[in-house]
Amino acid sequence: MIEIEAVEKSYGPLRVLKGISLRVPEGKVVCVIGPSGSGKSTLLRCVNGLEGYQGGAIRVDGRLVDRGRKAEIRAVRQRVCMVFQRFNLFGHRTALENVTEGPIYALGEPRQQAEAGGRELLARVGLSGKEGTYPAQLSGGQQQRVAIARALAMRPQAVLFDEPTSALDPELVGEVLAVMRDLAREGMTMMVVTHEIAFAREVADHVVFMDHGVVVEEGPPDEVLATPREPRTQEFLRRVL
Ligand code: ATP
Ligand code: MG
Repeated sequence: MIEIEAVEKSYGPLRVLKGISLRVPEGKVVCVIGPSGSGKSTLLRCVNGLEGYQGGAIRVDGRLVDRGRKAEIRAVRQRVCMVFQRFNLFGHRTALENVTEGPIYALGEPRQQAEAGGRELLARVGLSGKEGTYPAQLSGGQQQRVAIARALAMRPQAVLFDEPTSALDPELVGEVLAVMRDLAREGMTMMVVTHEIAFAREVADHVVFMDHGVVVEEGPPDEVLATPREPRTQEFLRRVL
């Protein structure tokens, strides 16, 4: 359902994506790993149209992600939501308001329906009782779970995660990964940039190792993470494990 084909992207003279191709089939989880600066965030941002790209093609459900066409980008953003490293919640809105904002203003849902849905989603990420709490009063892990609930409130067909746990204190990482694991089990299509190798090994259907804007190696987690073929993958894993 997400098809990335020979995508090229530069910032001025800096080539960041050098012909990247990968697919995220419906209901599957693809984890993307790789060193800092390899282009992982840029790739995710191209998929939901936060960034343009200069060559190749990205398609979501067959629709071309093209920054030149505003209506298309809006359609793509409704289908593909993104969860960031920093939680990006609205600080002056409660947890529930953060979750209902999208359904009310972007999807045009009646407030009551959006609130009922929002309560259900907050319960699903383990935050029943926190509906009226403001982000500053929530832990980082709780904030990130609100951010996941907020993404799900848009009823996306896929969710992109950009290092969703790397800004968290270690003891809070597990609760966020647990929510993501449940989501994967329920069949959500997910593209996850992560340094959590154990998570990738358990949850990913496919792992992609990127370095310097290219896909160096990809395959099933047991192969790429346990018995990588490429020296660059081996070296990276030695450093992060
Ligand atoms: P990290 O693991 O540190 O998050 P990453 O793999 O996500 O790294 P990107 O953020 O995609 O890497 O960055 C890839 C390259 O593009 C880096 O060299 C970065 O400095 C550069 N870059 C990213 N965003 C911009 C921008 N807005 N303008 C110019 N250069 C950028
Ligand atoms: Mg990044």
